[in-house]
Amino acid sequence: MQSLNKTTDSLLASAKQSLLYTANRPDIVMNRGEGMYLWDTEGNRYLDYVGGWAVTSLGHSPAALRDALAEQSSQLVHASPGFYNKPMIEFANLLTEISGFDKVFFANSGAEANESAIKLARKHGALHRDGAYEIITMTNSFHGRTLATMSATGKEAFKPLFEPKIPGFKHVPINDLDACFAAISDRTCAIMLELVQGEGGVHAVEAPYLQALRKACDVYNIMLIFDEVQTGLGRTGKLFAYEHYGVKPDVMTLAKGIAGGYPVSAMLATEKFDLFAPGDQGGTYGAAPLGMAAGYAVVSEIINKRLADNAANQGALIQEKLTGLFEDYAVSHVRGKGLLLGFNVPEGTAPVLAAECLRNGLLINAPNASTIRLMPPLIVTADDVEEMITILTAGLEAVGLTNEAVCS
Ligand SMILES: *Cc1c(COP(=O)(O)O)cnc(C)c1O
Repeated sequence: MQSLNKTTDSLLASAKQSLLYTANRPDIVMNRGEGMYLWDTEGNRYLDYVGGWAVTSLGHSPAALRDALAEQSSQLVHASPGFYNKPMIEFANLLTEISGFDKVFFANSGAEANESAIKLARKHGALHRDGAYEIITMTNSFHGRTLATMSATGKEAFKPLFEPKIPGFKHVPINDLDACFAAISDRTCAIMLELVQGEGGVHAVEAPYLQALRKACDVYNIMLIFDEVQTGLGRTGKLFAYEHYGVKPDVMTLAKGIAGGYPVSAMLATEKFDLFAPGDQGGTYGAAPLGMAAGYAVVSEIINKRLADNAANQGALIQEKLTGLFEDYAVSHVRGKGLLLGFNVPEGTAPVLAAECLRNGLLINAPNASTIRLMPPLIVTADDVEEMITILTAGLEAVGLTNEAVCS
């Protein structure tokens, strides 16, 4: 309880003393959340267009999640991965019903869900493709931070890290069919990709490309994996991003928004890829009651409140408002789907703009030096859009990103 009485300064000092330095964090301490807003320990309020990193799909501390956690925690928190529990069964039924997949495996993070998909792909290769083990992934992709998912990730900055990587990943540029076909060989067991690259700067895959990948996977009996960790469950304006394309994968991974902030992830597979045997994959916390109850409550709310539709509508409004800034400000290339949106600012200014907005009570994300990404909770309203645009516009003025300043 001692820390509750500490001043923000002493909290920050002890944070720097005791936490491993794995992230550049601003000198504030987040303390409370409600709906679209966060408050720090100094009482400053922030309109949240980062959404806990595309996680707090229902906003901060929503009643549906609070109630589910309170009820389930008084009933059963953890029984052991060696037993079935009721929320596990109910959530599995719900996810298979709404997704068009037959089977689900639960884990605790996006990386773990992708790790499961990688293992399932290798099992498929071992059983049905003569020991094929290579997985084709995309340049600029992001699949997580375990050693295998870092190896799958096509991020330039990851290349020199933690060598040697896990072998068996080939990276090809997104939307380049020739490059992908050239990479397919007897050793290929799977192709894995995001439908909108999130961490990579909000770049969507094109429909004809995806359709051609689906065809090739069918012809060669290669597993097609969509990493919908960021795009799934309403984020892009459909329940799943694959619905935009009319292309269904064999395996799909979900995490981030699935339980509104409680750590839960899922790997879904069609009947044909129900290939794991007992012992192949698991985890102490996977499918534990508390997380399953949280996921069930959050996904039910996303469906019942038609939040995918809200994401589509508010996303379109945000795109329109951002495009309206083109004339006066050095803003360009508004892109994305639903509430996974990006736009460009001049090289090097994105982190500066994000820091200025933070000072003025708006959280936005700069995935690289020239891109701003917006991923607010799916409950965002037109008033919240108006407030965001007002603070963003003031931020563009303050850091000198008016067209006059940039051109002169
Ligand atoms: C965030 C993310 C991951 C990793 O999820 P974690 O929960 O951080 O392990 C994987 N893939 C995509 C597309 C993501 O956006």
